[in-house]
Amino acid sequence: MTKSPPRHIEQTAFPVVDNCLQIGGIPLPQLARRVGSTPFYAYDRSVLTRRVADLRALLPDAIKLHYAIKANPMPALVQHMAGLVDGFDLASGQEMKVALDTGMSPGEISIAGPGKSAQELSCAIAAGIVINIESESELQHILRLAEKGQEKPKVAIRVNPDFELKASGMKMSGGPKQFGIDAERVPAVLQEIGRLDMDFVGLHIFSGSQNLRAEAITEAQNKTLELAIRLAESAPAPVRKLNIGGGFGIPYFPGEQELDTRSIADNLEALLPRANQALDNPEIILELGRYLVGPAGIYVCSVRDRKVSRGQVFLVSDGGLHHHLAASGNFGQVIRKNYPVMIGNRVKSEDRETSSVVGPLCTPLDLLADRMELPKADVGDLVVILQSGAYGLTASPTAFLSHPSPQEVLV
Ligand SMILES: *Cc1c(COP(=O)(O)O)cnc(C)c1O
Repeated sequence: MTKSPPRHIEQTAFPVVDNCLQIGGIPLPQLARRVGSTPFYAYDRSVLTRRVADLRALLPDAIKLHYAIKANPMPALVQHMAGLVDGFDLASGQEMKVALDTGMSPGEISIAGPGKSAQELSCAIAAGIVINIESESELQHILRLAEKGQEKPKVAIRVNPDFELKASGMKMSGGPKQFGIDAERVPAVLQEIGRLDMDFVGLHIFSGSQNLRAEAITEAQNKTLELAIRLAESAPAPVRKLNIGGGFGIPYFPGEQELDTRSIADNLEALLPRANQALDNPEIILELGRYLVGPAGIYVCSVRDRKVSRGQVFLVSDGGLHHHLAASGNFGQVIRKNYPVMIGNRVKSEDRETSSVVGPLCTPLDLLADRMELPKADVGDLVVILQSGAYGLTASPTAFLSHPSPQEVLV
């Protein structure tokens, strides 16, 4: 018996009516006319709302949910997220501006990342945003900057744990890392903070990204709590906020399945009594980017040319790796695999063929779909790349080959 090849999970986020994908209730061809040009990114409000609601329904009420803005910093989207989540996590000064403009309370916003600039640090201090300290020298930098102003810095220590998140798409902890202060150095740094005029709020332990294995995430969460309890013994004040990171992945490639969030939620429920008892009722924060916004977004480009080269069909589109690096396979992937792709105005067409979707750039890397079975498409048809709401436009080299940037809409 031959095993059938692995498939992409079925798309359920958006309705299909009259063979057309609908985004925010608008049929894709109409949305394309409304936007006025292709390519574009479209994000669906109702999908964002539903994803946060579905996750919250599983999580214990005590767990706070933060949105990591770097996954998708479009201001209208961040504004929408402000009404859904309990806080934001930032990775730059520009993200700080977008976050503060939403009206989110600064005490519920944190900024992380190595090499923060003097300006980013001073603005964060003035705004009252929690700074996740990434190194001992950064602590000294914050101290010098704080002396020039009136406000007491709110600080948390980002810890580089002594374990790693297994099976993670991107490992960000364990061993030598540019992120966080090594766990074994943290007690001394905590004591130092106690001697300084700073408001110590807690710990931040983020171990990785794009993980689809619930057991790996729960194991990391259990170790994170034990590490936090150990470190808290050296803290100058109670750990009021314990940010346990996130790392929740979404399925992109054939054979990948949805993350089992229920078992993660159950594990958190089981951890709460110990956290509350050992740390005196800390606020426990999950910070998620991709998981919340990835499935709510699509990238849309149109077919400009259909050519056949030595028997292989190429749909030459107006979109490409300059807009969507991840879908081309060049953003952290080791082996190139196809994102979920569809023809948005012929979703269920029975007339299918094997075709490759390429872009207008002069490089063989500009490949959005490699020999996929798709509805037979022609010039003017709309190619849709699903799972594109996170790390899409802002993670792509838009200046490469000097084509115009795509638009982004929230519908
Ligand atoms: C990037 C990042 C996140 C978000 O990661 P996702 O995989 O998008 O959920 C969260 N926290 C920190 C500190 C990050 O750097």
